Amino acid sequence: NWEYAPAPESRDIANLKPAYRMFVDGKFVEGSGEPLKTVNPATEEVLAEVGTASAADVDNAVKAARRAYDRIWGRMPGAERAKYIFRIARLIQERARELAVLESLDNGKPIRESRDVDVPTAAAHFFYHAGWADKLGYAGFGPDPRPLGVAGQVIPWNFPLLMAAWKIAPALACGNTVVLKPAETTPLTALVLAEICQQADLPPGVVNILPGAGDVGSELVNHAGVDKVAFTGSTEVGKLIQRSLAGSGKKMTMELGGKAANIVFDDAPLDQAVEGIVNGIFFNQGHVCCAGSRLLVQESIADELLDKLRYRVSTLRVGDSLDKNTDVGAINSRAQLEKIQELAAAGDAEGAQRWTSPVPVPEKGFFFAPTVFSDVQQSMRIAREEIFGPVLSVLTFRTPDEAVAKANNTPYGLSAGIWTEKGSRILWAAQRMRAGVVWANTFNRFDPTAPFGGYQESGFGREGGRAGLEAYLDV
Ligand code: NAD
Repeated sequence: NWEYAPAPESRDIANLKPAYRMFVDGKFVEGSGEPLKTVNPATEEVLAEVGTASAADVDNAVKAARRAYDRIWGRMPGAERAKYIFRIARLIQERARELAVLESLDNGKPIRESRDVDVPTAAAHFFYHAGWADKLGYAGFGPDPRPLGVAGQVIPWNFPLLMAAWKIAPALACGNTVVLKPAETTPLTALVLAEICQQADLPPGVVNILPGAGDVGSELVNHAGVDKVAFTGSTEVGKLIQRSLAGSGKKMTMELGGKAANIVFDDAPLDQAVEGIVNGIFFNQGHVCCAGSRLLVQESIADELLDKLRYRVSTLRVGDSLDKNTDVGAINSRAQLEKIQELAAAGDAEGAQRWTSPVPVPEKGFFFAPTVFSDVQQSMRIAREEIFGPVLSVLTFRTPDEAVAKANNTPYGLSAGIWTEKGSRILWAAQRMRAGVVWANTFNRFDPTAPFGGYQESGFGREGGRAGLEAYLDV
């Protein structure tokens, strides 16, 4: 959907400093933290050794971001900022193949997804926000909306490049500078994005990227020079950060976990719904905060729908992320695989019926065959906790009221889906659902123009759309 004129001639990227080192003040530099090894989860091979940041490196990066903010970026006219952001978008397009391959290698996701979703949507975020940079004064934010200063941003491993784009693009559009920490298992595409910032001639210090583990994230968000914290990750860590920042006066946005209900009413077009259910839970191996992990199906059609669903799921191919035939790739890490196995075992122990797709699964690498649990009760762990893997929990309901009540019976509230031919029912249910996004007869649609974010323990603040800009402005 984002067809633009061909990107400008590439610069001589051979002359850029090698990637996979920290990016501070416009340069790739050795970090003084312990280097980390990032592996390809589909093969367990080490992909790269990556330099990480120490507390002193975090301090340097925040100071570089502050200088860039005070001297250049915070004062630059929006129309000028827009040109840089636009250039970043074009360079992402230009380097799309490289980014897609690297993302699939580092994360384990199928190449078709990184090629068709992650990379183009990342570019779309920069294009969209380039358009905002010179219009902030005319958008109802008041006559003179101001940037906040230095944004400290921490992101997870499930959409490494896309999450970086969601964070960096709006921050830059509003005139803030950035220090971003990618997840420890997926630092590579964020470092290519750093190279792209260099290629785009972004002034030094405007974007800084610090690989490392949670300690680096903690150091960053708690640094006194950070004015705004943007976190995407687990609810557990999100709560920790909120506690540690209480009273600091820093602005925060929190994009946390989810346990979305995907509701299928008896009048739904079943084949279409099956595609949406499969996309909802098996896209990106279910490593999706808004995954449709709880299927709520009306009792009268439950057997028919489950038959169709099992048949469809058994056709999904599990395997190497670079194979274009792969539908479900590798689980991102051994630790995540063990977490999925543990929760699935809890489903067995609590009496749910496990069905595993008979599809062959590679022996080496971290894989988990698509799994559907039926006879799930609301009290079971697999109905309450975020599994963050290719595991669907199926519950039934009789009436629309019961469907909505069950959908809302969760401490989360990020997304939900509704499948029905009745437009009135879509509006009725969507108004009653405590979820930041409600999809109707579709699932997992993302667009930079639409605000995304949660209710309750799924967090607060929005990313995308006009609402997303409020998180980076003083109005
Ligand atoms: P995580 O919370 O373990 O880690 C997220 C990031 O926080 C990582 O970069 C990690 O290094 C860092 N971190 C860890 N401890 C920290 C600390 N004490 N202080 C600061 N930073 C710290 O989550 P994860 O396993 O990487 O990601 C999966 C989670 O992310 C899921 O719960 C998922 O739902 C959520 N998620 C939410 C959204 C959303 O938009 N709501 C999007 C994607 C993922």
